[in-house]
This record gives sequence, structure tokens and C-alpha cells, in this order.
Amino acid sequence: MDNFVSVIFCSNCGSRYVEIREGRRGTEFYCRTCQVSETVSNFTLGHCRVTNTELQGARDSRGVSGGRKK
Ligand SMILES: [Zn+2]
Repeated sequence: MDNFVSVIFCSNCGSRYVEIREGRRGTEFYCRTCQVSETVSNFTLGHCRVTNTELQGARDSRGVSGGRKK
């Protein structure tokens, strides 16, 4: 059975190394590659292992403003 998850990418640099951390203004997303951060309040992250093929598929279909790219 397939499981579908959402993957967070950094929109600044495209990195997949996005973490949740406690920042000065509360919980925030944080990019380990380029160090950008942004406050979030209603989301968190889970980790799982996926193949490079699956990860690339997620990159190719990442959401854009107003909807999803094909
Ligand atoms: Zn980044």
C-alpha cells in the first residue's frame, strides 16, 4: 500500500534539509542549507526515508501559489 506524504522544500535555495526549531518568535521552519527561517504555528514535520526517484517526483510537483504544478 502506498503512503502519501508532503515534503517541505526551501523555496529560497531548493534544499530538502528543512527542520523545525524553536526560534525567537516561536516555532519556525529552518533551512539547514541557507539558514532562512520562517515562523509557523499549526504545522510540524515528520521524517521518513524515500528513494531519490520519489524525492525528485516531489520536487517536480511542488506546490506553487494558487495551486500545484503538474
Ligand atoms: Zn534554503
